[in-house]
Amino acid sequence: MVHFIGAGPGDPELLTIKGKRFIDSADVIIYAGSLVNEKILADRKDCAQVYNSAYMTLSEVIGVMKEAAAKGQSVARVHTGDPSIYGAIREQMDALDDLGISYEVIPGVSSFLAAAASMKKEYTLPGVSQTVILSRIEGRTPVPEKEKILSLAKHHATMIIFLSVGKIEVLVHLMSESYEKDTPVAVVYKASWPEETIIYGTLETIADKVKAAGITKTALVVVGDFLGDKYELSKLYDQNFETEYRKTGGSIDDSHQ
Ligand code: SAH
Repeated sequence: MVHFIGAGPGDPELLTIKGKRFIDSADVIIYAGSLVNEKILADRKDCAQVYNSAYMTLSEVIGVMKEAAAKGQSVARVHTGDPSIYGAIREQMDALDDLGISYEVIPGVSSFLAAAASMKKEYTLPGVSQTVILSRIEGRTPVPEKEKILSLAKHHATMIIFLSVGKIEVLVHLMSESYEKDTPVAVVYKASWPEETIIYGTLETIADKVKAAGITKTALVVVGDFLGDKYELSKLYDQNFETEYRKTGGSIDDSHQ
């Protein structure tokens, strides 16, 4: 059995209890060494074989899984954040399907969620944005034409850009065509790690600040007015609105009945 595990953004305490259980009991561990914090492997079995997938191809990864499965060994395939976000998990699952090897996926805390926690912000502010777009600019992996940053930016949604801080100048240039130049931007480097750094600016100022800080990778670029201070209060906790649990005019105690 192979367990794909979302290891979270970096802080070992942000690994799920279930993910930790499968890592600690695995016979074989394949982890994405470029981003996964090695501390999450600290309680593994002494005899566990550990592979760093940063040095491996897809077929090598699948080969290790196949060999382990043939020996009846358990495999923990450890991805950073959540494997469903830029995790290259699908190609592995499809290969395992072809080989008839069973697997399970254990979700993790994606870095974009850790970034919100570090910034102490809410991505979906009433009256500002109710939509979050996760995207990237083109690197070696092409981005479909219809999803180019320029067209996505037109929605003025909250935007979270992965894998792109190395091209921050290109990114802000593209976004400036749709957003106002003073739209707030934050760059969150290594969210939840001890070396976490957050840089705040606007579309106009952020590129220089990021360069001055020497940040070229492992960072998210988040853009949108959710970083500002203007928003409407929620209806969920509005005293003039009823919800399934809370009737207007009722005391707080009523809501718990
Ligand atoms: N599956 C991962 C993303 C993998 S792609 C997730 O859910 O977070 C790798 C990119 O994710 C990096 O280039 C960076 O943009 C972002 N990233 C991963 N960990 C990060 C962290 N701790 N802080 C900020 N960005 C991070």
